Amino acid sequence: MANTKNNNNRRGGGDCCSFCGAKRSDVEILFQGLEGANICNKCIENGYKILLDNEVKVEGKRPASLLRQEDLMKPVQIKAFLDQWVIGQDAAKRAMSVAVYNHYKRLLAAPKTEEVEIDKSNIVLVGPTGTGKTLIARTIAKLLKVPFTIVDATVLTEAGYVGEDVESILSRLLQVADYNVELAERGIVFIDEIDKIARKGDNPSITRDVSGEGVQQALLKILEGTTVNVPPQGGRKHPDQKFIQVNTRNILFICGGAFDGIEQKIAQRLNTHALGFGRTQREQVDRENLMKYILPQDLRSFGLIPELVGRLPVLTFMQPLGRDALRSILTEPKNAIIKQYERLFEMDGVELRFEPEALDYIVDKATEFKLGARGLRSITEAIMTDAMFELPSSDEERFTVTADYAREKLERASLAQLRQVG
Ligand code: ADP
Repeated sequence: MANTKNNNNRRGGGDCCSFCGAKRSDVEILFQGLEGANICNKCIENGYKILLDNEVKVEGKRPASLLRQEDLMKPVQIKAFLDQWVIGQDAAKRAMSVAVYNHYKRLLAAPKTEEVEIDKSNIVLVGPTGTGKTLIARTIAKLLKVPFTIVDATVLTEAGYVGEDVESILSRLLQVADYNVELAERGIVFIDEIDKIARKGDNPSITRDVSGEGVQQALLKILEGTTVNVPPQGGRKHPDQKFIQVNTRNILFICGGAFDGIEQKIAQRLNTHALGFGRTQREQVDRENLMKYILPQDLRSFGLIPELVGRLPVLTFMQPLGRDALRSILTEPKNAIIKQYERLFEMDGVELRFEPEALDYIVDKATEFKLGARGLRSITEAIMTDAMFELPSSDEERFTVTADYAREKLERASLAQLRQVG
């Protein structure tokens, strides 16, 4: 079929669409077929819609609107998928699996208005940086094949101030969904550093905190579900800009934050209410791991406004990663760092091997530099750079990284360099 925009139908059959009869001058494009048949862009669009409505398989992504009950993975399956990518963090993985399952069940139930309306299950993940919050959110999006975007809460400001409007969150989602509004409306948004927009002062009524409370207020509606005029290119709203309307009712929001110092708030609460939640005695509180007792009221004590906390009904926590977890992260996840280097070398015909002591050394250094899981990557990169430079031009077929080799290479790299890569 040829595009006849500048090429009038030369085979007869009229200069109009053979399907709807529209004249060439009334349509944007008239495609020319055999025997003088033509079809206009509008009829192609209509045909495409009919294919989608009848769930006929078309090339490309299946719209989320066609999500079917049988496609929905059960929480146990979602968790099993997460296990392949994320080490440890069992509590968070379980909570996320349930929340995501319920969220998509809610989407499936949505058209049946007579039924009980299921609330949104937006999630808040609390835990130190580099423990896998973004990784979990990203992995969930990969599993569900929905558009996913990460935004940093610290760049958001209340309308009228320098910074980005809250609506810009949705511009990013639209961009990753190739401006397919329907797809974007089923996507997942990860809002990072949500703790940084906490109200600073303890007393909410004294000051109005522009960078904090104002943004929290602006986020409320989006999180709950509303129709938003989104500037397609993001950034600040502009009077003569065209907007795209996006309904956030079915967008899942996952918020993450380190909430530094929240353990003190938890401890204070536990000291005053030692009983409850299955604990009968004060002694049973695990002081080493206070995060597991986190409750929504702790987020409020930290400075999130109650309305925002109310719109984030699923609250879960991430554990700090110990040595064992770091060691597993190096080699076990599906796209483990070491597996990635092995693959890179394999492409040059070199079999790469790390001695266990070399891996232990990498973990030791990541712990020593307090770089956590993020440090694993930068440390390994610093160790491997020379080999990656030299080996592609050599005849070597095998390369083994020993602890001594790792130490020698790393000692030459400065900590500043490591932080940069991380
Ligand atoms: P956060 O969002 O909590 O600050 P990230 O999810 O961005 O942390 O983690 C940074 C990197 O560290 C990830 O890309 C991943 O490679 C690694 N990582 C962190 N935590 C884990 C984990 N639990 N399992 C596997 N890899 C992890």
